Amino acid sequence: MPLHDKNTVRGFFKEAVYASSDLTVSAPKYQFPKAETDPRHAYAIVSDEMLLDGNARQNLATFCQTWVEPEVHQIMDLTIDKNMIDKDEYPQTAEVERRCVHMLADLWNSPDAANTIGCSTTGSSEAAMLGGLALKWQWRKRRQKAGQDTSKPNLICGAVQICWHKFARYFDVELRQIPVTADKLTLSADDVIAACDENTIGVVPTLGITFTCLFENVKAISEALDKLNKEKGWDIGIHVDAASGAFIAPFIQPDLVWDFRLPRVKSINASGHKYGLSPLGVGWVIWRDAEDLPEELVFQVDYLGGNMPTFALNFSRPGGQIITQYYNFLRLGREGYKKVMEACLGHAQYIADEIRKMEIFELFYDGKGGLPGASWRIREGVNPGFTLYDLADRLRMRGWQVPAYPLPANLNKIVIQRVLVRHGFSRDMASLLIADLKRSVDYFKNHPVSSPSTQKESGGYHH
Ligand SMILES: *Cc1c(COP(=O)(O)O)cnc(C)c1O
Repeated sequence: MPLHDKNTVRGFFKEAVYASSDLTVSAPKYQFPKAETDPRHAYAIVSDEMLLDGNARQNLATFCQTWVEPEVHQIMDLTIDKNMIDKDEYPQTAEVERRCVHMLADLWNSPDAANTIGCSTTGSSEAAMLGGLALKWQWRKRRQKAGQDTSKPNLICGAVQICWHKFARYFDVELRQIPVTADKLTLSADDVIAACDENTIGVVPTLGITFTCLFENVKAISEALDKLNKEKGWDIGIHVDAASGAFIAPFIQPDLVWDFRLPRVKSINASGHKYGLSPLGVGWVIWRDAEDLPEELVFQVDYLGGNMPTFALNFSRPGGQIITQYYNFLRLGREGYKKVMEACLGHAQYIADEIRKMEIFELFYDGKGGLPGASWRIREGVNPGFTLYDLADRLRMRGWQVPAYPLPANLNKIVIQRVLVRHGFSRDMASLLIADLKRSVDYFKNHPVSSPSTQKESGGYHH
């Protein structure tokens, strides 16, 4: 056997990766590769390509977790083979999911007597679908029982995340979205009541609006609905989209009543992979009571020789994110989550203060009372020689992703720029960001963008 035969040589010693025959040609892109590749070479190709993505830690646009403890990496590795759907094969994973459901019901103040039920999902979008579906089925059952028409369901909401538009389209529900205005950035109870009718399946307030970081007033809406339901003999319930807020309000504003303390709140969704601090791929939906989840939507699966109710859109799904969620609950507890959220809010408020000092900007959100973020616009009447889109591009040169976008609907003439602060961001990083932002503004002072690009209507996609 000649010693220089490629495969034999590989068997004896390792080629220099970047001088190998695999890496001195371009990798297949669209046709299924014919032959095998050395794993080190394939790894180099794939991991190098990932360098072209933005740096997740500097992505201040996303609500999703981009830093986790080393133990979370270890648990993810340990659990990479666990399928969430196989409750019988992985009963302990199923048990851990159940514990998380009960811990969350406790965190969201489920009453002692309630027979809470809930499940993990891949994120809040799927959790929202399930919450919306339950509302739709309960409404339809009530209507059918009374011999009434069930062909025109509607759902009331404010400036919701895109998942609610999807829910409405996929499941054939009219979305009655109450537009935001300058003096009503959050849902007003009066507007909600005016939009309700006998075909309303539910109302969805948001705890942590993606565009503005604000919390909607769930309590006021709940009280108004109690009154309306009593007058009309309806039973319109609330699902709270608390994707981010459900992991912030309980620790930072424990007296804010937005959760199961309000009997009208039938279900709540949250993203475990946002301020729940788990890696991407976990959301939660919890019902106040088993009765609020129509039994027709529940499937029974084998579990330790018995049955376990499941409610999900997916079949096979990874279990690691759920197990790391449990790790986080054990690891941090209420005190740890409070510290993490306080640190995030502190950094957000620091950024807001620094922005406030720069006269060309006007704060839109100062990091207080809602999500750990800050947003600003260019002060009215000021022409600094650039737009917020230009500034976003300039910051991108240093790796920072700080999106600029127009507010929704009636306010789409107002463009703001926003940062979100997550666990994994330090005061030092905040000060480095501010230094880069100031440098960018100075740069534009000397090199104004010749024709201030007309404010692009490039609507943002909000994570
Ligand atoms: C992020 C978000 C969603 C969607 O959640 P995913 O976990 O990304 O699926 C829904 N609603 C709100 C308010 C959000 O912030």
